[in-house]
Amino acid sequence: MSFPLAWTHRFADLGPDFHTELQPTPLPDPHWVGQSHAVARDLGLGDAWMQSIEALQAFTGNAMLPGMRPLASVYSGHQFGHWAGQLGDGRAILLGELPGPSGPLEVQLKGAGLTPYSRMGDGRAVLRSSIREFLCSEAMHALGIPTSRALCVTGSPGKVRREEIETAAVVTRVAPSFIRFGHFEHFSHSGQHAQLRTLADFVIDHFYPACREAPGNPYAALLEAVSARTAEMVAQWQAVGFCHGVMNTDNMSILGLTIDYGPFQFLDAFIPSHICNHSDTGGRYAYNRQPNIAYWNLFALGQALLPLMDEQQQALYALEPYKALMPAALQRRMNDKLGLTRVEDGDADLTEALMKLLAADAVDFSIFWRRLSHAVSGDLEPVRDLFLQREAFDAWATRWQERLQSQPGFDAAATQAQMLRTNPRVVLRNHLGEVAIQRAKQGDFSEVARLQNALEHPFEEVAGQEDLADFPPAWASQIEISCSS
Ligand code: AMP
Ligand code: MG
Repeated sequence: MSFPLAWTHRFADLGPDFHTELQPTPLPDPHWVGQSHAVARDLGLGDAWMQSIEALQAFTGNAMLPGMRPLASVYSGHQFGHWAGQLGDGRAILLGELPGPSGPLEVQLKGAGLTPYSRMGDGRAVLRSSIREFLCSEAMHALGIPTSRALCVTGSPGKVRREEIETAAVVTRVAPSFIRFGHFEHFSHSGQHAQLRTLADFVIDHFYPACREAPGNPYAALLEAVSARTAEMVAQWQAVGFCHGVMNTDNMSILGLTIDYGPFQFLDAFIPSHICNHSDTGGRYAYNRQPNIAYWNLFALGQALLPLMDEQQQALYALEPYKALMPAALQRRMNDKLGLTRVEDGDADLTEALMKLLAADAVDFSIFWRRLSHAVSGDLEPVRDLFLQREAFDAWATRWQERLQSQPGFDAAATQAQMLRTNPRVVLRNHLGEVAIQRAKQGDFSEVARLQNALEHPFEEVAGQEDLADFPPAWASQIEISCSS
């Protein structure tokens, strides 16, 4: 069943300084694990074709489709605060771009075999982490958070050695570009400044054209624009309780997308210093440090762009707005969660007081917001039940209700509806992923599909999905997610 696809290759056309062209390494006996019909539609891939052997083979890396031009890109980066030197796509292979609804979309296989940048790795990805990346990409998108997407996951009985022997899988990821801060660091730190400029021009021309028209240095304008997008992204992470887990500069998208899902976690209990990555012993990427780490990473990007600027001050000025933008974006998001339409004096205090209460009683983050949404025109009791310090909560709730009702034209039903569209009922908690993964390891992918379906509609109250919206079981806190993937 052939399918005429119009592959284009803007990144490939940058030339061999930026990547190595190579073929993926086949995996034995592939099978489908999951697919996103929404992403398939965006790429113009019909449902029937997505069921074909040809698609299964192509998205496992076993056979290339006409027009694909597979490559692995080179980048460097700072890992856990230290310069790590050259990294690169050690197991990701870009196939090319297909036209999407608002411009070309890159299609990339993750786990499709060795590349010149694999270093000590095997070029593979295991089933469990591939399912997590697939589900989380689609979950984040449905939450309205900028992210790479996932078209599909295929599995294979091919063995992969991690702490134990596991089986291989391939995720097909989709984004307008997978260029990272680390790509810029690579060409800057290795003194390849002509290539650095080529890359920056590429990103400006295709993704940030306004930077060319902006007064002053276009590369400083790019840094400022990337900072603004990153601020918005991180504010959204904080507001939904998302911990990325490995915010190394090579995992930071130049488009401000959430990328490289590894040991991520959605908070269960609200513990601000929560560390989701078992390998992050120092807590560098703890939930409450993410906004500052994003700034640190932007600073590293700024440093990498210095050879393109006239003076160091331009980079510092470009980074400055982040310090106000991030908290402002976060306050806007928190106000949305609280049902408050405009940010006013005192809202920061009201939010901070709430966060202290949530932290003091380690209240379940998502359940709190969902119950609070229902309480606008209903009963506060289910929210109150979540707290040990009930009087303290009552005092806060009185402040919140007064603030709600002080809004001109306040309408409880409309506010409740808005909050229910803002505070998700279902997020990809670790234990939900874990249940789906355990079933998948037995060859049953129905729970992956059920969870995917719920995550695609995270704000809807769907019957039969109550278990996905419930408190985590006791064993959830024992799950250890590390960098091993
Ligand atoms: P990460 O922090 O997981 O995004 O990966 C950091 C670097 O290690 C990137 O250059 C990856 O491509 C590379 N890497 C991670 N796992 C593997 C693997 N199994 N095989 C080859 N390279 C890998
Ligand atoms: Mg990475």
